[in-house]
Amino acid sequence: EREDAASAPLTLGALADGTPIPLLANLGSPDAAQAVALGAEGVGLFRTEFLFLGQQTAPTITQQRAAYEKLLGAFPGKKVVVRVLDAGADKPLAFLNDAHEENPALGLRGLRALRASEDILREQLTALAEADAATRAAGGGADLWVMAPMVSTVSETEYFVSIAREYGIRTAGVMVEVPSSALLADRILAHADFASIGTNDLTQYTLAADRLLGSVAAFQDPWHPAVLRLVREVGDAGRRTGKPVGICGEAAADPLLAVVLVGLGATSLSMAPTALADVRASLAATTLDDARRAAEAALTAEDAASARHAAESAATR
Ligand code: PEP
Ligand code: MG
Repeated sequence: EREDAASAPLTLGALADGTPIPLLANLGSPDAAQAVALGAEGVGLFRTEFLFLGQQTAPTITQQRAAYEKLLGAFPGKKVVVRVLDAGADKPLAFLNDAHEENPALGLRGLRALRASEDILREQLTALAEADAATRAAGGGADLWVMAPMVSTVSETEYFVSIAREYGIRTAGVMVEVPSSALLADRILAHADFASIGTNDLTQYTLAADRLLGSVAAFQDPWHPAVLRLVREVGDAGRRTGKPVGICGEAAADPLLAVVLVGLGATSLSMAPTALADVRASLAATTLDDARRAAEAALTAEDAASARHAAESAATR
């Protein structure tokens, strides 16, 4: 069954004018069969939290390495972006977090927490470097990229890139999911090899609305032009610095918003594997000029609903 999937001729993500836009999978475990079958060209976000959640102690390097080898082995020669642990008081770990923060989304989470418990970060980077070396030695290595979550300053970027380099990680980047990072994307990309925009958190922090709180769920809309303007900052910075800018939040799974994100400068899109087919079809029907026109229209809207309508009319003109 897996062989059938692998041999099915799935087209690569590209715009109607031929501009390639790699379409990648978001994964929360190393089980990659579905993503491969649905034509993922690699992994744009590997959430490593599954290894840590519910544990009393951090997983060993050996345990982590086995999971990373399985993942890398499933995508020979393909890009695989692994995110280091993104924990915080909303999903606390006994060995990492103080579970009593009043505002967990604004607390010691993501890279901030790893920096405060640097051994955990060093062990994770060790396991990733070992898995990378082992899968390459076996002839089936992937193109490993590693990124940090919840980066909010340039100095955090410098810190992460330099510690990743200590372990021989060739491609080290950061997630842009806090407005400060989007606004300083040009400075951040002077240090990082790539940026990946997490639109879920970027929306939460831009609209100041807890993404887990039902009463403010209406604010959690990545179509909001304030969010799109921040994405544009990152896209422009990527163009100026020649560095890749991916999207790995849920926004990339919306076929029309995917077009707008490309128009704003995204160079790859990562999503739940089940969304790949519709996004692939949507991009294939759109030129880069169409995408830029849709993006321009959405940027000048006053709210999320009108941004969507404006993009729709611009894209189908
Ligand atoms: C995001 O914030 O958009 C993201 C991709 O990370 P997560 O959803 O895991 O916070
Ligand atoms: Mg996030």
